[in-house]
Amino acid sequence: MKIKDLLQSGKVTFSCEIFPPKAGADMSKMDGIIQQIAALHPDFISVTYGAGGSTSKRTIEIASKIQDTYRIPALAHLTCVSSSKEDVATMLERMKENHIENILALRGDIPQDAEFPSPRHYRYASELIRDIRSQQGNLFCIGGACYPEGHVECAHKEDDIDFLKQKVESGCDFLTTQMFFDNNVLYNFLYRIMAKDIRVPVVAGVMPVINSRQIKRSCELSGTALPPRFKAIADKFSDKPLAMKQAGIAYATEQIIDLLSNGVRHIHLYTMNNPEIAAKIMGNLSDILRDEEV
Ligand code: FAD
Repeated sequence: MKIKDLLQSGKVTFSCEIFPPKAGADMSKMDGIIQQIAALHPDFISVTYGAGGSTSKRTIEIASKIQDTYRIPALAHLTCVSSSKEDVATMLERMKENHIENILALRGDIPQDAEFPSPRHYRYASELIRDIRSQQGNLFCIGGACYPEGHVECAHKEDDIDFLKQKVESGCDFLTTQMFFDNNVLYNFLYRIMAKDIRVPVVAGVMPVINSRQIKRSCELSGTALPPRFKAIADKFSDKPLAMKQAGIAYATEQIIDLLSNGVRHIHLYTMNNPEIAAKIMGNLSDILRDEEV
């Protein structure tokens, strides 16, 4: 099923993200993770792609397993920063062979030891999206990434939104946000993109935080702000893993309740291969999500 149809169906959607194990790692642990996440009946499961190529081969294999074994739509991420046009064409063929219908088309983070084709084939995700559309028409449903706080490399938020508009116009069916910890940041972003007439559905990415040190580092890298309320929790419980986990689950649950209460209809949980956390959050929301069914 195409994710754009799900997002336009009027129902509230709840999706999860997983990342493939490193090349050569045992797949049986991954199989268990997929099984446990599938048991939560998410509307779709996204599978990340290693821009450096380390885990990229596994993305299609895992997405295909999610669809074939559990009959859950999969969203295969695809990055282009270090790819040639031929690499992308090969990946698209493999996706077609594996009946993958949904792609999250990304530029990718630039790997430290990056080797680029010379001249560079892709600089921005919008070029990848344009290529997929021109080669494959509407065969694939294509999503793109967006950044409520602005992408870390873009000096001006307004420019970032102008580039986002170009990306959507190159053929995006929906957008998924970077994590954010202050819902007002998302509401403000939604107003600003509406003002620019960006009308595709936006899926709100929520990251349950269970490790305060790790999150501080990834927020620094991604430019995501930590609101004082969140910082106080992370500081208080940084040395108490079980307490941090419980507080992180409560924070993400509250964040989602506030999003749903304010009309956001699509929630994507950055599950980080941790089905236990996803299960607890979905358990906390079970009656709320049931009431949201239309
Ligand atoms: P783009 O949309 O190309 O934007 C990158 C930068 O270029 C931005 O600063 C933008 O403002 C600027 N820009 C865009 N167009 C132009 C233009 N025409 N002229 C000048 N500047 C321009 N990374 C992975 O490696 N694998 C994954 O699986 C993965 N999944 C992700 C999922 C989500 C939901 C999100 C939010 C991010 C994900 N990432 C992933 C990280 C992502 O690859 C990085 O954030 C990356 O730095 C930007 O990717 P993008 O597709 O948003 O790039």
